[in-house]
Amino acid sequence: MEDYIAENLNTVHARIAAAAKRSGRDVGEITLIAVSKTKPVPMLQAAYEAGERFFGENRVQELCAKKEALPGDIAWHMIGHLQTNKVRQVIGRAALIHSLDNEKLAAAIQHEAEKQDIYCKVLLEVNIAGEESKYGLAPGAVEQFAREMTRFDRIRVCGLMTVAPFTENPEQNRKYFRQIKQLAVDIRAKNIDNIGMGILSMGMTGDYEVAIEEGATMVRVGTGIFGERVYH
Ligand SMILES: *Cc1c(COP(=O)(O)O)cnc(C)c1O
Repeated sequence: MEDYIAENLNTVHARIAAAAKRSGRDVGEITLIAVSKTKPVPMLQAAYEAGERFFGENRVQELCAKKEALPGDIAWHMIGHLQTNKVRQVIGRAALIHSLDNEKLAAAIQHEAEKQDIYCKVLLEVNIAGEESKYGLAPGAVEQFAREMTRFDRIRVCGLMTVAPFTENPEQNRKYFRQIKQLAVDIRAKNIDNIGMGILSMGMTGDYEVAIEEGATMVRVGTGIFGERVYH
């Protein structure tokens, strides 16, 4: 019944491989995150059976419930805006938090990670196009913010994440992906203690191939795998 999910996954993987090849990159550098938000557990199970092990959710409650319901070898990625009062539930459950963009949240993550005696991997979310409606740091504020993160010894900054503008034409987002890549290169060159820039989480169903051509190491694809989302 959910055969189309395995087919869609094959198609997405093939497109990822083609985009990597076009840009002279090793496909092994690129991780597909299957964005399963709003989708029911049987659909995730189908993706799991087709070999998918990385899932992205944007709500803490939903991530935790699905984690309980599905096999233990899945890496759960928290890709949505995170409120400080939800940190306690998500720390230790999410393999990577893609959406760190403020100091209050960093302090909450540090506090909870200390309590659980773990380290927490995060990406810094960048609002690359300066859209009012979006979360994330302004590009010009990212380096300073990264420097401030060095005092949180339980937080491991692993790179940058962005949600590019919605567009029918993915070429319009190429410049933004290029800017994110350049920002990561510039920050890495500063050699800030404990701040890694190895992961670039960028590209969604409409533009992940362009994102890969510009250096994405993680692409977050929902609709292209599970179909359109219906919000009730
Ligand atoms: C929903 C979502 C995605 C996936 O979007 P699609 O267009 O369905 O691929 C990727 N990233 C974030 C942060 C999201 O919230």
